[in-house]
Amino acid sequence: NQSTVATAPPAPPTTLKEVGGLSDVLQELRELVEIPLKRPKLLQSLGLEPARGVLLVGPPGTGKTLTARSLAEDLGVNYIAIVGPEIIGKYYGEAEARLRSLFEKAKRSAPCIIFIDEIDSLAPDRSNVEGEVEKRVVAQLLSLMDGFAALNGVIVLAATNRPEHLDPALRRPGRFDREVQFRVPDRNGRLEILRILTRSMPLDASVQLTNIADLAVGMVGADLKALCQKAAYLALRRQVPNLQTSVSSNLTINQTDFQQALKEIKPSVLRSVEVES
Ligand code: ATP
Repeated sequence: NQSTVATAPPAPPTTLKEVGGLSDVLQELRELVEIPLKRPKLLQSLGLEPARGVLLVGPPGTGKTLTARSLAEDLGVNYIAIVGPEIIGKYYGEAEARLRSLFEKAKRSAPCIIFIDEIDSLAPDRSNVEGEVEKRVVAQLLSLMDGFAALNGVIVLAATNRPEHLDPALRRPGRFDREVQFRVPDRNGRLEILRILTRSMPLDASVQLTNIADLAVGMVGADLKALCQKAAYLALRRQVPNLQTSVSSNLTINQTDFQQALKEIKPSVLRSVEVES
């Protein structure tokens, strides 16, 4: 029941058990999303205004997309993913119609989560935008957010790492008036993520995830995933130096593979500011 407006094949289902180091975020999101979608009467009886839109704010690779997908899966609700730059790029000129039809589809498939990735590219601050089409897309999104009554079983989650670039009208009450922060994980968060990512990897007894978590300072979930994959490739190269040879079924990944991988994979926050020497 998950559909994505993207050229890539749909990602496999995932649950919140795959999300590490974000327990506060998950608690907050569950309250914001689960109650209105699954138990709307509870909110009504307390006279509470349910969220229609929630902004997921945080650096790339901290698990915003993973969390949105997993939340939909765990709650058993439908999921429609919209990638901001693709709507603008691929459907330029038709972007407004495309958005309208996706919101319509969400209403028909309620209860449903709409996930808008990179919303800053879809709804940039209009005072900094030249193009008429771009301005109209922002206006369309605002009117779509206003157009569905709260409690009709649709919630929009939207991710950004540049909240200051968003059109301010987007954050008015009844639109994206709730915000959840995805932070770069601390040491315990990194450890939790590493445990999840290595669950199905054949780790040798030498591997100390606590030590790797200590050393992986500044890494976000996506970096840790790259680190684990690198360690696995190094283990492969070490044990199967020649790919023509028959592969043993007892391949393992050891601590040295991880230590070597740590030398090669750098935190993405650092990569983006690296200068050539
Ligand atoms: P972007 O802003 O670049 O879209 P994002 O915050 O949406 O990034 P994801 O796309 O969810 O990040 O993360 C990429 C991958 O990194 C995930 O599919 C997952 O494998 C891993 N990952 C990221 N964060 C976490 C986390 N908190 N727990 C477990 N895995 C994570």
